Amino acid sequence: MIENYAAEGKSLARLDGKVVFVENTVPGDVADVQLYKNKKDWAEGFPLEIKKFSSDRIKPFCKHFGVCGGCQWQMLPYEKQLMYKQQQVFDVLTRIGKVDLPVMLPIVGADATKFYRNKMEYAFSAKQFIAEDDFRKMVHSGDDIQAAAQKNVAGFYAKGIFDKVVEIEQCHLQAEPTNSLRNAVATFARNHHFPFYDFKQHTGWLRNMMVRLATTGEIMVNLVIAKRDEEKMQMLFDFIRKEFPSITTLLCTINGKRNDSIYDLDPEVVYGKGYITEQLEGFSYKISPKSFFQTNTRQAEKLYGIARSFAELTGREIVYDLYCGTGSIGIFISPLAKKVIGVELIDDAITDAKENAALNKIENATFYTGDVTKICDDSFFEINGKPDVVIVDPPRAGLHAKLCEKLLQVQAPAIVYVSCNPATQARDINLLSEKYIVEKVQPVDMFPHTLHIENVAQLKLK
Ligand code: SAH
Repeated sequence: MIENYAAEGKSLARLDGKVVFVENTVPGDVADVQLYKNKKDWAEGFPLEIKKFSSDRIKPFCKHFGVCGGCQWQMLPYEKQLMYKQQQVFDVLTRIGKVDLPVMLPIVGADATKFYRNKMEYAFSAKQFIAEDDFRKMVHSGDDIQAAAQKNVAGFYAKGIFDKVVEIEQCHLQAEPTNSLRNAVATFARNHHFPFYDFKQHTGWLRNMMVRLATTGEIMVNLVIAKRDEEKMQMLFDFIRKEFPSITTLLCTINGKRNDSIYDLDPEVVYGKGYITEQLEGFSYKISPKSFFQTNTRQAEKLYGIARSFAELTGREIVYDLYCGTGSIGIFISPLAKKVIGVELIDDAITDAKENAALNKIENATFYTGDVTKICDDSFFEINGKPDVVIVDPPRAGLHAKLCEKLLQVQAPAIVYVSCNPATQARDINLLSEKYIVEKVQPVDMFPHTLHIENVAQLKLK
């Protein structure tokens, strides 16, 4: 019997007093479990057979669920997902962070649990991934498995498999025109015999497509192809322009490398401005094809609002926004601060941050490119001013230990820690607990139906 949710998609059961972490199950399920790891105090396993399904289970709404790894929790009602996320934050804070029951505000759920993403990336592939169940059905019905495996498809890479793509007909994470566009481009390319990319052989032409929708109505599409081919390019661009007039800007990136990353490449503008503008509260943000922006716009607005309220600004504070990306948080809180200082590793993001500050006529924010562990030294704080509030929003790995040390030395009266990984956040809070106490925390659900949790913590100097 599965008793509770544990973490990272695994649930928890007990066998003779030993804790067993089980994947692909939910609390309330009764299952026969095959162990693949068996230690003294704990074990890990997967369900061979689920004997009784939990009464909490609901039917996943997407036909690709299970094969496509994008969503993991469609079998749980949204309220239960929120409940387990809240519990997860509480667990790691108390267990890893050793925090004395902080004031834990209820998780902020999403109003829209479908079509909430502003950015999606699809792959075109000469090899289709066929799930085990479909494979069996095909064997029984005598279908041509070889032909199906070699079908040119558009969708997502199968989980853990780098060269085969799960064909997606409808994804519920991003609103139209994304689904129709992806399907239409794939059909057009198949009809015109444009070769789809083969990741293993490094052959083929059509590679990826990124779609970004802004709440302002602007839509950006970046098509990634393997090499320049004017005739094919023109045909495809004309088709997209004619069939999808709502797309405000189309870009094309030529990627002849083996990997899919476009960060070292230059997207070329086919038509339109080459970027879109997003709006959070009254602030405008320019988003270029390569720049980072929180992928759930409406939840990002709530997340930044919480960070701002936890910073308790009066207009007199010097605020540091560390790991600032394109300056989104710094800009958002700037009207309530005396001065904002942003630090970020990626130079392009800092260029965007400066442009975004100018776009919003913000004059009290300064942005620096650099590694927080190197740039944030004594002279940096001396030149820019002793911090009243430090806002940190690190990647999943959390704060660098060196930065934690520095923060303990600098002793800002308040730290607002925005985290996309509560486990590393709890570890860092534990390090900071030498001088800081956690006053309150509030999780925010940025990604319904997935396991991701965002959490904001307010730390005050003891
Ligand atoms: N606060 C931003 C971005 C947060 S994502 C927003 O909400 O949009 C985390 C950012 O930390 C990324 O932009 C990443 O490039 C940056 N980063 C990672 N390691 C860093 C380091 N050592 N020093 C400075 N920035 C770093």
